[in-house]
Parts: sequence; C-alpha cells; structure tokens
Amino acid sequence: MTNAVPTSPRWVDFHCHLDLYRDHQDLIRECDAEKIATLGVTTTPKAFARNVEMAMGYPYTLVGLGLHPQLVAERADELPIFEKLLSRARYVGEIGLDAGPRYYGSFQEQLRVFERILRACDEHGGKILSIHSVRAVSKVLKELDLHLRNKTCVPVLHWFTGTKSEAARAIELGCYFSLNVEMVRSEKMHALLQALPIDRLLTETDGPFVTFDERPVRPTDIPSTVALLAKLRGMDSTRLADQITSNLTSMHSPTPSASIDRQLRLFKTT
Ligand code: MN
Repeated sequence: MTNAVPTSPRWVDFHCHLDLYRDHQDLIRECDAEKIATLGVTTTPKAFARNVEMAMGYPYTLVGLGLHPQLVAERADELPIFEKLLSRARYVGEIGLDAGPRYYGSFQEQLRVFERILRACDEHGGKILSIHSVRAVSKVLKELDLHLRNKTCVPVLHWFTGTKSEAARAIELGCYFSLNVEMVRSEKMHALLQALPIDRLLTETDGPFVTFDERPVRPTDIPSTVALLAKLRGMDSTRLADQITSNLTSMHSPTPSASIDRQLRLFKTT
C-alpha cells in the first residue's frame, strides 16, 4: 500500500495534478520543505506507477489512483489496470462524473466506470476518494450511497458546486469537501463555504488548472487560500490551518454516526 499519512503537516493540498507541472520534482520538494501534505491525483491508471516513483522518498506527497471522468471516453479500457492496482493505493482519484456539455456524450460510460470503481473500493475497504462532480452532484451522491455500502471508505468532494440541500446530503454520507481558491473567490459560493462543518473541510489547489497571481497555482499557495477562507468564516487563520490538518488525520477513519448527526443538525440551522 502506498503512502502513510505524513507526520505533523502544516498545510493540506488534497487535490493537485502534480504530474501535469513541468517542474513537478521541484514542486514535490517544496511540499516536503513546507510540510504541505499533497495528494497528487492522476487522470489515468497508467500514470499511477510513475507518480508513485516521483513521490518516492517524499513523505508529504501522496498519490491517488485515478480515472478522470473527462477521459473515460478514451480510457475506459484501462479499468482492468485500475482494478489491478487498487490494492496498492490508499488514495483514489481523480474519479467521478461530469455532465457538462463537452462530456455529456460519455455520461453512461462514465457512470458504468464510476460504479465499478466505487464497488471495487468498497470491497477493498479503507480507501479515501477525491471525487469530481461537475453538473452531476446529486447523481454522484446517489452513487456513493448505493455503492459504498460498507462505510469504510471516505469520499472527498473536490470543487463542490452543489446546493445547500446537496451539501446536507453529502454531510450525511460522511463526505469531506476540498476547497480551492477559485471557490473562495466565487461570491455565490460564500454562504455555503461559511456553513460547511469545520471538521469536514480540506483545502486543495486543483493545480495547474487554477490560476493564482496570473500563473498556475502551486501547493505553496495553500496558506493564502486558508487565510481567505478564515476571513470568510470570521476565524483566526492559524486555528483554521490547525483544524484542516487535524481533519486530514481524522479523515483516515470514517466519521462516527454521532458526529454525522451533530454536524448535520448544525449545518441545517446555519
Ligand atoms: Mn482535478
């Protein structure tokens, strides 16, 4: 099994396409130097081995085994590779569904792949999943509910754009939310970002696809995201950073149902 949880990280980037940066090896070194626990997601199962190799000897870089919904149309035939590698992966991602106009044509195929992946994760148990849900939040939640039956896997919704009631459903299903700077910048997201349970929050870059200071965002920009998010939630930035790193630890065991009930009650009253 690849990767143990890094010890005492200072920051968390739980969704970064590190293999898509030209200087990925520098980026991996920066993560270690700054103690940024970074999940390098992959978009095809074939990329997994190379990413594991890149991260070897760098305890702050974690590697996810993924099959991106936007690539399912061309890469669905790599599903057997995914299933073969799954026993080696603690982290799974990027996976999910994309019902945006460009990818809608492959939606049925995406659904088939997503279901197979969820069922395999549930069978293996103990996986942590980074999930894409563009224009498909309610469908993604329904699939999690149907296929993660044993409740030993933990879903993380990456770049969540759903409604408040969808967020409530996600909380009920034990999901975490990884938030990026683009979400924090979007005013229409503010009410939701203020209301999400603090113990379900993680940060991410989704780099290099997100821009920061007119260049691709890097894990080292996470402190700025935390500062903006803390301001939005009216809290101290250091306390939020500590909470997020402690969430990273708690995420490695599924949330107990008593806390789910409490978080859900609180969320519904905000
Ligand atoms: Mn991504």
